[in-house]
Amino acid sequence: MRLRSACALALALFLFPALQAKIAAAEEPAEVNVYSYRQPYLINPLFKAFTEETGIKVNVIFAEKGLIERIQAEGRNSPADVLLTVDVGNLTQATEAGIAQPIHSETLDAAIPSAYRASDDEWFGLTRRARVVYASKERVKLGTITYEDLADPKWRGKICIRSGQHVYNVALIASLIAAHGEEWTEQWLKAVKANLARKPAGDDRLQVKGVYSGECDIAIGNTYYMGAMLKNDKEPEQKEWANSVKIIFPNTLDRGTHVNISGAVVAKYAPHKDNAVKLLEFLASDKGQEMYAEVNNEYPVKDGIPWSPLVKSWGEFKPDPISLNEIAALRKKASELVDKVGFDEGPSS
Ligand code: FE
Repeated sequence: MRLRSACALALALFLFPALQAKIAAAEEPAEVNVYSYRQPYLINPLFKAFTEETGIKVNVIFAEKGLIERIQAEGRNSPADVLLTVDVGNLTQATEAGIAQPIHSETLDAAIPSAYRASDDEWFGLTRRARVVYASKERVKLGTITYEDLADPKWRGKICIRSGQHVYNVALIASLIAAHGEEWTEQWLKAVKANLARKPAGDDRLQVKGVYSGECDIAIGNTYYMGAMLKNDKEPEQKEWANSVKIIFPNTLDRGTHVNISGAVVAKYAPHKDNAVKLLEFLASDKGQEMYAEVNNEYPVKDGIPWSPLVKSWGEFKPDPISLNEIAALRKKASELVDKVGFDEGPSS
C-alpha cells in the first residue's frame, strides 16, 4: 500500500508538468502571428532571438500595404496577434480602425517612455527615428539649422522634400503646429513651398539624390536612410548620394529635433494574446532594443541602450520631448494645411 502510494506520487510528479504544459498548449499554442509592414531582413533576426529565448514560434505575413484593412476585414476570425508598422500616423490609423486592444504591461510601461506609447495603451513605440536636414557637404557651410529657418528666402529654389501628405511630413508639420500654432504653420508651409527646388515627389532617398545631383542644397529625410544608403550594396550609387551630404539635426539649440517611432499594436482579437505581449516585451527589452535599433540604423526608445556605431557617428542630438500622442492629435490639422497651401503642387504654383 505504502509502496503503491509512493509510486502514484512519483508518477503524478512525473506526469503533472507534462500534463500542465499540454493543457497550456491546448489553450494557447506556442506561437504568435505577426502582420508586418516592416521588412523581413529587419525583423527576422529579432524573431529568431525571441524564439530562442521563449520557445514561441513567430509566423509572419509581410506586406507593403493593406494589412490594417485585412485585419479589419478578417474581424473576429483574424489570426493576427501583432501588427508592426512605422510612424505614429500608421499606429493611430490602426487604433482608429478598431483593430487594436489596450495592453497593460508594467514591463512595457517601464521600458518605453510615455511620450512614445499611446496614453490609452493601444500602441507602443519600439524604435525612434529623427527627421533631419541632409545638407550638401560642398555647398552648405552651416553647422546648425532650425525647421523655422527653412522658410527663409535665402533657401529659395534650394530645398527638396517628399510629399507634404506623407506620414513623415504630416507628423513634422504637426510638431510645428504644437510649437507655434496653426496660423504660423500655414505661413511657414507657404514659405517652404516657395523655397522648394521642385514639386515634392519620391521618397526620402530621392531627396538626398537631389542634393547629390545639385538640384537642391538641402533635403528633409529620416536618419536611418543615411545608414540604408551607405550599406546599399545592390545600388552602390546610393553610397555616393549619402556621401555627398551631412546630417544636421534641426533645433538642437531650442526644443529639439522632431522624432517619430516605429511600433506595434496587439490585435483586438489576437488568438495568442499572451504571446503577443511577450513578443512586445521582448522587443522592448535591452536585447531587443539593441538589435531592433541597430538593424535599421534607428534609435532605441528605451533609455540607456547604446546606439549602433554608425548611428553614433551622426552625432548626439536633442529629441523634441513632445509626446507623440500630441503629434497624433494634430495630424489631421497638419494634413489639412498641406492641402490648403497646395504644398504638393510645388514652388511655381
Ligand atoms: Fe521610411
